Amino acid sequence: MSVVAQPFAARTRAAVSPLRRVLVDFPVRRPTVDEVVAADRPEEPIHCLRPDAVAATASDFVQSFPGDVLYAVKCNPDPAVLRALWDGGVQHFDCASLPEIRLVRAMLPEAAIHFMHPIKARGAIREAWARHAVRDFVLDSADELTKILAEIAATEVPGVPGLIVRIALPKGAAMLDLSGKFGAEAEAAADLLRAARGSARVLGVSFHVGSQCLDPLAWREALALTGRVIRAAGVKVDIIDVGGGFPVAYPDQEPPPLGACFAEIEAGFEALGLPDARLWAEPGRALVAAGTSVVVQVQARRGAALYVNDGVYGSLADAGTLGFRYPVRLIRPDRSSVAATTSFSLFGPTCDSADVMRGPFLLPADTAEGDWIEIGQLGAYGACLRTAFNGFDRARIVEVGDKPMRDRPTSLPDPLEVAA
Ligand SMILES: *Cc1c(COP(=O)(O)O)cnc(C)c1O
Repeated sequence: MSVVAQPFAARTRAAVSPLRRVLVDFPVRRPTVDEVVAADRPEEPIHCLRPDAVAATASDFVQSFPGDVLYAVKCNPDPAVLRALWDGGVQHFDCASLPEIRLVRAMLPEAAIHFMHPIKARGAIREAWARHAVRDFVLDSADELTKILAEIAATEVPGVPGLIVRIALPKGAAMLDLSGKFGAEAEAAADLLRAARGSARVLGVSFHVGSQCLDPLAWREALALTGRVIRAAGVKVDIIDVGGGFPVAYPDQEPPPLGACFAEIEAGFEALGLPDARLWAEPGRALVAAGTSVVVQVQARRGAALYVNDGVYGSLADAGTLGFRYPVRLIRPDRSSVAATTSFSLFGPTCDSADVMRGPFLLPADTAEGDWIEIGQLGAYGACLRTAFNGFDRARIVEVGDKPMRDRPTSLPDPLEVAA
């Protein structure tokens, strides 16, 4: 799989195929990011995965969340990430597509897989149920309820599914809204709970407060709405699924501690008065963001703009229009920099003028062509939103032993405006 002879294990992967990649065994000693750069002098982006950090984060989350933890596979489906999460104690997986389900089932025969996309292809329901032992399905409409029940019956594999009704939330304090296209409004959700009860092995309610949610009260308020829906429905509910959205640190965002989110969830859950119900959460970002950094190379510098070999069509999608900032670090194997830090913007490699990441990203003032930059906190979404646009679909993945990059909260002027 690797293209050049090198003293560490690396694989080449195309942007479009992370779900189809072949698994490879890795050596036990993992190099550091600096060793990788010094040995390889990479001209393509390198994804640096920290499996030990992913496993440790997962273990903390699983031990402190007062219920079952379902990993949202879309956030990063890399097999090495899934393996690290499993090693960290994650046993439930929130899948939204058949390829995700097949991947998790092929890797982890013991895992509990839940099909959490509210709108599913008919064939996907049948294959999930009959071949991959998926037993729980989310829905937000009566049509989907009919579809799920009909397709399960068509498989002739007996059983009664778990059914989770996704409710819509008003737009809240999260950076990314996830109620825009899914979720039943309160009254319809109550009707759906009543309609589903008789056909459900277990019945649940789920919601998503939005991704990177910085306000722990969002879960409390969503649980209060959940309570109103359940009372209106007047049926027994077995599962309360508080979704994902758990925040991580970025240079300009200091999130509340996870414990604060969990405390609001526990209080909101207790207020529902459902002693027999079970809590679920579906974290994505919080489990894997810190677990991957990306090393890019500077190919040109123009003032405060650094032209690098990865961009918004690659791993840095969220640094584009959404304006996410990430911790960065200069890597220069031959000599070190003593220059003071200043703020830069990054330009990606494609020909699209929109391929710009304003940052600001803080780097030594003498950063120049040929230098490498390690960009941290890219394990969530960044690592898997890549496209093949303009031919820039190559990136290699290597497992490293480094700790996650630390974040330095800063507020600096926008470098493109300063330069203008
Ligand atoms: C994306 C998604 C998640 C994970 O969200 P994070 O913000 O990454 O924690 C969980 N559940 C559902 C239904 C999702 O669509």
